[in-house]
Amino acid sequence: MPHRAQQPPSAWRFIRRALMLRCPECGISPVFVPVKKVRSLFDWFTPLDGCPRCGYAYEREQGYFLLAIWGLNYGLVALVGVLVGLYIQHRHHPGVSSPWWLVLAPMPFASFLFARHAKSLFLAMDHYFDPHLKPADMSEGAHPLDEDEHEHPSQP
Ligand SMILES: [Zn+2]
Repeated sequence: MPHRAQQPPSAWRFIRRALMLRCPECGISPVFVPVKKVRSLFDWFTPLDGCPRCGYAYEREQGYFLLAIWGLNYGLVALVGVLVGLYIQHRHHPGVSSPWWLVLAPMPFASFLFARHAKSLFLAMDHYFDPHLKPADMSEGAHPLDEDEHEHPSQP
């Protein structure tokens, strides 16, 4: 992967792209249907098939995002919920059970809002640790961003 050698990928670049819900490879195209165009739960939760710009496939295989949902989304939301619950208990001593209801009630909502970022972060992590590029990219050593130049060759 020659272009990797010239331009070492930084984990932060992947994380930044993931938080902006952008393609992990080119960082330009969105991973999901834009919020204004969402018409159903399917639109909200399901990533697009792939990047229209660089051709990066978002869903590599069926069930690819299961880990994103259970590991990242559920795990992080539950962790934050438990921490907030412990904090409330520690600060205000409202009794044993009442703070947990305060914390548990908004968790499904938080999980819903975080679903897209969980998938996007998972996508970026996977691409960071296990980059998969099209064979053409590897043989030419061309960066996917240079594709535009190939599409419009300059005439002599
Ligand atoms: Zn892309």
